[in-house]
Amino acid sequence: MHEMSIAMNIVEIAESVARQNNARHINLIQVELGTTSGIVPEALEFCFESACKNTLAENARLELLLSKAEVTCPVCSKTQVLTRQVDLCENCGELLVARQQQELRVVSINVD
Ligand SMILES: [Zn+2]
Repeated sequence: MHEMSIAMNIVEIAESVARQNNARHINLIQVELGTTSGIVPEALEFCFESACKNTLAENARLELLLSKAEVTCPVCSKTQVLTRQVDLCENCGELLVARQQQELRVVSINVD
């Protein structure tokens, strides 16, 4: 599953930061998620829980911040949030392209 490898990757990043800071436990991991990434937040949260087992992040909380790819249609001026890199305007059908956006980024990590 796509989300599982992403969750494990997040835990890996958090663990390496925690070790650098001699932390014993990770409390919270904040992750920014692009709306065009195709990653399902609920699936990621679900996978995160099992990815944390037997790591410094055991029982850590995952906070997902959605980074919205907002685009204003050049034809009808309607502003909308794209869920794909390229999508059609929901109002007039014009082809819209999202600005380049990071799929996923670990924003902050809270440790003990
Ligand atoms: Zn439009």
